[in-house]
Amino acid sequence: MSKRPVAGATGERLADRLADFLARVTPDGRFLFVPPAGLAWLGAPEPPQAHADHDLFQHIGIDYHDALRAALVRTADGGTRQALSLRFQSGDGGQRRVTCRILPLPGAAGRTELLFAAWEFDPLLDRAEGGAGSRDPLTGLADRGELMRMLGHAIGQTGDAGGGFALLLVGLDGFKKINDALGHALGDQILCESARRLRTALRGDDIVARIGGDEFALLLPGMRTAEDASTLAHKLLAAMQRPFEHGRGQSHLSASVGIALFPEHAPDAEVLLKQAGIALSLAKQAGRNRCHVYAPEGGALAERRLMLEERMYDAVRNGEFEMHYQPIVSAATGAVVAVEALMRWHPADGGAVSPAEFIPLAEANGLIAFLGAWSLRASCHQVARWNQRWQARLQASVNLSPAQFRQGDLVGVVERALAESGLPAELLTLELTEGMLMREPERAQELLSRLRERGVNFAVDDFGTGYSSLAYLKRFPLSSLKIDRSFVVDLASDGNDRAIVAAILSLARELGLRVVAEGVENETQYALLRDKGCELMQGYLLGRPEAPQTFEDRVEAGAWRLAP
Ligand code: C2E
Ligand code: MG
Ligand code: MG
Repeated sequence: MSKRPVAGATGERLADRLADFLARVTPDGRFLFVPPAGLAWLGAPEPPQAHADHDLFQHIGIDYHDALRAALVRTADGGTRQALSLRFQSGDGGQRRVTCRILPLPGAAGRTELLFAAWEFDPLLDRAEGGAGSRDPLTGLADRGELMRMLGHAIGQTGDAGGGFALLLVGLDGFKKINDALGHALGDQILCESARRLRTALRGDDIVARIGGDEFALLLPGMRTAEDASTLAHKLLAAMQRPFEHGRGQSHLSASVGIALFPEHAPDAEVLLKQAGIALSLAKQAGRNRCHVYAPEGGALAERRLMLEERMYDAVRNGEFEMHYQPIVSAATGAVVAVEALMRWHPADGGAVSPAEFIPLAEANGLIAFLGAWSLRASCHQVARWNQRWQARLQASVNLSPAQFRQGDLVGVVERALAESGLPAELLTLELTEGMLMREPERAQELLSRLRERGVNFAVDDFGTGYSSLAYLKRFPLSSLKIDRSFVVDLASDGNDRAIVAAILSLARELGLRVVAEGVENETQYALLRDKGCELMQGYLLGRPEAPQTFEDRVEAGAWRLAP
């Protein structure tokens, strides 16, 4: 159809142009006159006058009634033209999405008349029109609010027709970087071009919305299977991979797509959008330039991940992280010789999140650099203060995460923590895992050597669970091994575990390494380990990880005795 309104048309001029449907109406929506051309839309072959007193509202989707009523009143009262986007229902049950205008008309004596003009909706032209429905000003696509309305509508229709639809979220990978590098003007160009590519890949009745800086949502009526949606998603991925030409050359981008289906994956628009968001973030995590279909099983976990990740930034700002300290005890004397520093997250709204859960998240979102440096600093300060207060030589054992280990400035971070706290380097032990050492042995060797030269000690944490290749131990300047808790748990009943522990202990002796047993919870385990020659013990039997104040109370009450 070529009959489209043009931006800037005045009310009168607009009335001259052919709309797809025109009617003169009263401010409360009764038809005063419908020209013959519009009758087809009403689905009734009656003469025009038969429509006098018909109600415009009869032909408008119920969820748009409020918006229409408000627009009619505003036009009647203020004489200003109104634009909105509606669902038009013809008498024979047909549905059309329309863009419409309501204009004041000079009425007969004392009567206000309005002109209702409607055009079948075309998203590409909508921008030039100055926007019907709520629009994203940059791309002219529907915005989030409009998407939610359209989703609500699609869901309403599905109920009657028994059909379904797909919701795809498309995120541009690494757009931020490009935007920062090229500037916002070119960034905007790329966004508009992305919008155009998406639009071009879709059918006319598909809806495209821009719902975030670099995120688009696609509502695809009638698309009911994950296979169909994935096929389309791959077409979109290919379209986004074509180079973007602009004034400063070319940029290469990729996208990730999350897919959720209605009614399969969610009961309403809100949840559906959330599930698609989860699928999108999983697609990005899986390495970008791919699509992921929402899976209910993965949902709960992924949802929690997202929730935690979102809150983690605030948590850092609000100081919700703190270090707890667990004693490591000498089997020979029963005295506390070291403490392992263990991070705790206490969200402001209660509950606690385990480091086993939040450390990997912090690795993924980059906060680990901050958290890791902070935990080192806090632990060194704490133990240095305790040593001063109690005239002791407690060792601090601090865990390093793989990402921290990979970062370039680890040596600097450690040196600063030591210098600022005054903790002697030889009282600091950094705990690493076998995996961290083995992934890049050369780098690990170099890093360890540099820190070892300064006096820092290294322990292999969770020993026995990783590569278990003992030969490599000789390559690294290590000072101790921590036998993983899994070998300690069944020590009394499991002969294999006893044999493994015995082997670890004798190997360690040969290599000149000290051994800490992790997770010692009862006297039987303690006795078995001690008798086999394990020098250091850590576990609930000896003491749980405690907040600094509790740790102090235990020591000062004499419950935990420090080595002299
Ligand atoms: P890990 O380094 O092996 O720490 C020992 C874990 O065993 C701690 O769990 C500790 O609370 C727990 N544990 C100690 N004694 C017993 C016992 O007798 N029985 C049982 N069942 N458990 C015991 P937590 O504090 O939940 O920490 C889990 C892991 O999170 C740590 O394992 C460590 O890998 C990581 N982590 C904790 N704090 C930090 C940190 O500051 N930085 C980094 N990078 N990782 C940390
Ligand atoms: Mg540890
Ligand atoms: Mg461990």
